Amino acid sequence: MSSPYDILFEPVRIGPVTAPNRFYQVPHCNGFGYRSPRSHARMREIKAQGGWGVVCTEETEIHHTSDIAPFIEGRLWDDADIPALARMTEAVHRHGALAGLELAHNGIGAANLYSRATPLGPRHASVAGSGYEPVQARRMDKQDIRNLRQWHRAAALRGKRAGFDIIYVYAAHGLSIAMHFLMRRYNDRADEYGGSLENRARLLRELIADTRDAVGDTCAVATRFSMDELLGADGITAQGEGHDVIALLAELPDLWDLTLSAWSNDSATARFEREGYQEPYMAFVKKMTTKPVVGVGRFTSPDTMVSLIQRGVMDFIGAARPSIADPFLPQKIRAGRVQDIRECIGCNICVAADNKIIPIRCTQNPTMGEEWRRDWHPEHIAPKTSDAEILVVGGGAAGLECARALGQRGYRVTLAEARNELGGRVAREARLPGLQEWRRVCDWRMTQIKNLSNIAVYPASAMNADDILEIGYQHVIVATGSTWRRDGVGRASWTPLTGHTAAHVFTPDDLMADKIPSGRVIVFDDDHYYLGGALAEWLARRGCAVTLVTAAPLVSYWTQHTLEQEKIERRLRQLDINILTRHVVCEIASDHARVRQIIADRESALECDAVVLLTDRLPNDALYLALEPALAENKIKSLRVIGDAQAPGILAQAVFAGHLAAREFDAAPVTETPFQIERAALI
Ligand code: ADP
Ligand code: SF4
Repeated sequence: MSSPYDILFEPVRIGPVTAPNRFYQVPHCNGFGYRSPRSHARMREIKAQGGWGVVCTEETEIHHTSDIAPFIEGRLWDDADIPALARMTEAVHRHGALAGLELAHNGIGAANLYSRATPLGPRHASVAGSGYEPVQARRMDKQDIRNLRQWHRAAALRGKRAGFDIIYVYAAHGLSIAMHFLMRRYNDRADEYGGSLENRARLLRELIADTRDAVGDTCAVATRFSMDELLGADGITAQGEGHDVIALLAELPDLWDLTLSAWSNDSATARFEREGYQEPYMAFVKKMTTKPVVGVGRFTSPDTMVSLIQRGVMDFIGAARPSIADPFLPQKIRAGRVQDIRECIGCNICVAADNKIIPIRCTQNPTMGEEWRRDWHPEHIAPKTSDAEILVVGGGAAGLECARALGQRGYRVTLAEARNELGGRVAREARLPGLQEWRRVCDWRMTQIKNLSNIAVYPASAMNADDILEIGYQHVIVATGSTWRRDGVGRASWTPLTGHTAAHVFTPDDLMADKIPSGRVIVFDDDHYYLGGALAEWLARRGCAVTLVTAAPLVSYWTQHTLEQEKIERRLRQLDINILTRHVVCEIASDHARVRQIIADRESALECDAVVLLTDRLPNDALYLALEPALAENKIKSLRVIGDAQAPGILAQAVFAGHLAAREFDAAPVTETPFQIERAALI
């Protein structure tokens, strides 16, 4: 039967190879890389199984002079790296998808901290990146350029031997040497590789030609290119040199993979950009080339995807994050199960994992990164092993996911939520500026739960231990969330703040319950993730004069890992929010708070009408503690506390905790490490 989405399932030719459909998982980092090849291969395999017609690696270093340690990406430094990547191509091919390899020499982005090689660049320059490494790259001479071309060629040949169908030349995100040569601010050369755009594009042209010459008989050659750096005249722009590079090289690669630079603009979060935000920068490219074009923009709507193809914007629907949140997105569209798509919320916890050098994880998809080590599958879960009925108390992210996954296993589940509204804190926080898409965490789970007749949901049903024992539930999972501390105890202060009991002291729970301060408001952000900045923004938009106080050197410090920190700070400054870094609130009085500069240890008074404290949270574990004796007395058979009620954490951890509890229900307890570890073999 025909469907409006058939166009998405048409095969598309890319040079000598043909993709089975238009779903294209563009290269994305994942924290597995060369260190965890089994985990990497399995994660990519599941994408292929889920219907992605092309599945690519992350950036893959071609040589030890491109060593971006401590980050863990792909590696093809020499032949010994081939088997690890061959695992991935075999896994991807098992499901009929094409495997793509993003070759990268990171040029002045590689400090070479592991290899201790001298970094290379178009000019003498400090290495790029936010780490401010005290390392400079050396200006490449002609022999260096010849060497680089030889390394790239050798890596392409290794990629072919590893079984890849598409081999990339990377010129994007300001992370690759081909882009460094293009960028005027990095290229001051007077030779044929500097000056005019044609000269600055020479290296990119040569690398594409070399790659085609080396592997083009059987492999497609793709170019990943950043159309715009969003720096105006200081950088590459889609109207200027971005356009001109496409004009120069239009027919040279077999495929154009288009992005924005830097990575924070390419992987913009939902707080700052909506689905399709990159279209204005790349919509014209298809008119300039006959080669297929792939673009990204956090696409999760199949109607948007069809429109992009029909309007001739792109040939492939590129996705990194939507493929992480739902590896089975293409299959669900094919099967007419659009409502089952687990849409990415644009939070960049996946990106944060790469930045923290740990295995990838995802807020929406708790199986992401666990495919090999725990043998988890995003769509399948072991069926029930008993006829147990389970009560889940609390319908926040943890409780919803736990109930959903237990229901998927076939258990009979009762989900009791105290409030009228399900969704817990994420449902409430999604009302803050830019966080609307975060609602998808509860919306997707509620949609799934509605379709499972073995889950009964009871909103407006606060449960206590007596109710539970009287009704006779035998298995109880407590997901009752957490409460922000009112006394100011947290990282900055181990003891309650003087003055914390005053009526003009608020917590985020107050604000979310519509108890909102006015006038001059101090937001003391001892939490350091998104919420302090988001509340400060919200209050400023409501007319408050906001001062944000943080002990960290940067506002919303942890959001550096989600690539948002600069954007958040810019927005807060645009709203005239006063930012006091390296300060803590140490005392609250009726018309002022005393703040301390923590380095100089100097106190001062800050006039205010209200103080909002984001310090620690306390788990709402009273119900769990009240039921513990019943477990000891065998009045109930099992009891578990999960999510914020166990230990407050980020949303991704609450979803994961709910999923883990559902997987482990009825399972024999394990005393060893509960997952496989990829260890280096000692030979
Ligand atoms: P998590 O992130 O761990 O899911 P949340 O705070 O988002 O935590 O959600 C916890 C949910 O539990 C909230 O919606 C809250 O209303 C609910 N809840 C707390 N205590 C009870 C209770 N005794 N009975 C039923 N629901 C409860
Ligand atoms: Fe999307 Fe967040 Fe998952 Fe990344 S972690 S794929 S941004 S939902």
